Amino acid sequence: MPRKLMCLFSSLLLLPPAAIPWSAHGHQTVAEIALLFLKQSNPDAFKNLGTELGIESLADASTWMDDIKNVETTPSDPDTVVFLNAAANKKHKDWHFVNLPLNCTSYAACSQSPTDFSLNNDIVHMINEAVQVFKGSTAAQKSRFSKRVAIRILAHLIGDLHQPLHVGCGYIRKLSQQKFEFVRDPVLVKQKNLGHDRGGGRLLFGSNNLHSHWDGSLVNRLDQQILTDFAPTIKMKTPPQPSWTPQGAVLTWAGQFATDSMKLSASSAYKGVAPRKQQSQDFTIDLDKTYSTDRLPDVQVQLVKGGFRLALVLAEVLK
Ligand SMILES: [Zn+2]
Repeated sequence: MPRKLMCLFSSLLLLPPAAIPWSAHGHQTVAEIALLFLKQSNPDAFKNLGTELGIESLADASTWMDDIKNVETTPSDPDTVVFLNAAANKKHKDWHFVNLPLNCTSYAACSQSPTDFSLNNDIVHMINEAVQVFKGSTAAQKSRFSKRVAIRILAHLIGDLHQPLHVGCGYIRKLSQQKFEFVRDPVLVKQKNLGHDRGGGRLLFGSNNLHSHWDGSLVNRLDQQILTDFAPTIKMKTPPQPSWTPQGAVLTWAGQFATDSMKLSASSAYKGVAPRKQQSQDFTIDLDKTYSTDRLPDVQVQLVKGGFRLALVLAEVLK
């Protein structure tokens, strides 16, 4: 690769990573579905959740991590003030994602040398930090966050983890002046030191980008099809599958959920998508006419699966 090009793509790696959220609607839907599952399957944990959150709803708790990104929307309750004053939380905007190449076999496989794409503050690590507030064995683990903040983190990040573009990510190689391709192989991505598209955030079509399309537009489009009571209706139409239930210890669950989302990113979110023309650090893409319609069943499953799994984690930490 020519030196100039190497610099360009290497510099992409140094830019601030993506911190684009699932829309508030997506998060609140996951939270509402989680409450329905929790009330049904574990009334004791449901009651304990109410005790921890007080008058705050789980739907409100689920958007707290986005609310604190902006001064105008940051709440002023004592838990928030303590959280934002702690030096360890300064980079909370980076906690919402992990950028895995599309052919990683699992989060675990791409969290170790020579293909380590994990960070100690990525979405999986931070979910586990929040779980440790309840399940940890040391005082430091238990006091990392207040319990209320830990629930807010879980409610948000488990939602994000089910938006596939918060996990699976396009790494781009330039083939010629205006010809690009996604490189899916994690070994090759490391060898070539390729830059990424911020979970589709740099893939533009019309006035939108692929990440935002999954965060908000597709959720809204699905909602428009379900005329009334969005969360309970899609929950009723989408029965939990055996594969949704994680195996083993609770601290391995977030990694398993990440693997699942990464595979969906490869098979659905990036299916039929190719970077076309470069505009500074962004790329234009063309989407098939049926791309959005074809993806709605996946969006529906992810919202319900995210709610189901959030309920499982809350039941585990609040029992
Ligand atoms: Zn987020």
